[in-house]
Amino acid sequence: MDKIERQRELDRLHHEIRTTKRCPLCADRTQAVPGEGPIDARLFMIGEAPGEEEDKTGRPFVGRAGMFLNSVLSEAGFDREKIFITNAVKCRPPKNRKPKASELLACRPFLDRQLELVQPEWICTLGAVSTNLFLEGSLTKVHGNVYPIEYQGRKYQLFPTFHPAAVFRVSALKEEIRKDFKKLKELMS
Ligand code: URA
Repeated sequence: MDKIERQRELDRLHHEIRTTKRCPLCADRTQAVPGEGPIDARLFMIGEAPGEEEDKTGRPFVGRAGMFLNSVLSEAGFDREKIFITNAVKCRPPKNRKPKASELLACRPFLDRQLELVQPEWICTLGAVSTNLFLEGSLTKVHGNVYPIEYQGRKYQLFPTFHPAAVFRVSALKEEIRKDFKKLKELMS
């Protein structure tokens, strides 16, 4: 499939994500948040689930956690526009609770298809929920390391780090996330 076809297919997929009633989370959402970024992004970032601002705007990481993510990304030398950013589940769970296993499972085919279409080299998971989709083990042990993985017959470099919202609970994580993103930038250069 060439790049134009992949983009067309991604647009179709995002339309399906916005209109599906496959999972009960659709009942409380204002709108689904499929994700955004270039079809040929080298880096594919996965958060947990949309929050209040994301649910209002339909865009990932545009609230408080998103502001912090933007600042660490630009400090490390990344251009957010060149990254494909999405979440493990595409609809906001009520009161921002953690997504249930059944909700992660219902949304997984969308994430899988996005990965197939974007074909990134690198996957950066933000937080334990998205990290544990690919890797077992505690985030405090695995963050900041590269894991070569094979997923759906394709090879990726997986780089887990903390969720940007975690710094609002544990401020010491700010430095850890900054360090991880600098390391990721060096590894990708
Ligand atoms: N937290 C997430 O995990 N994703 C978003 O898009 C916003 C906040």
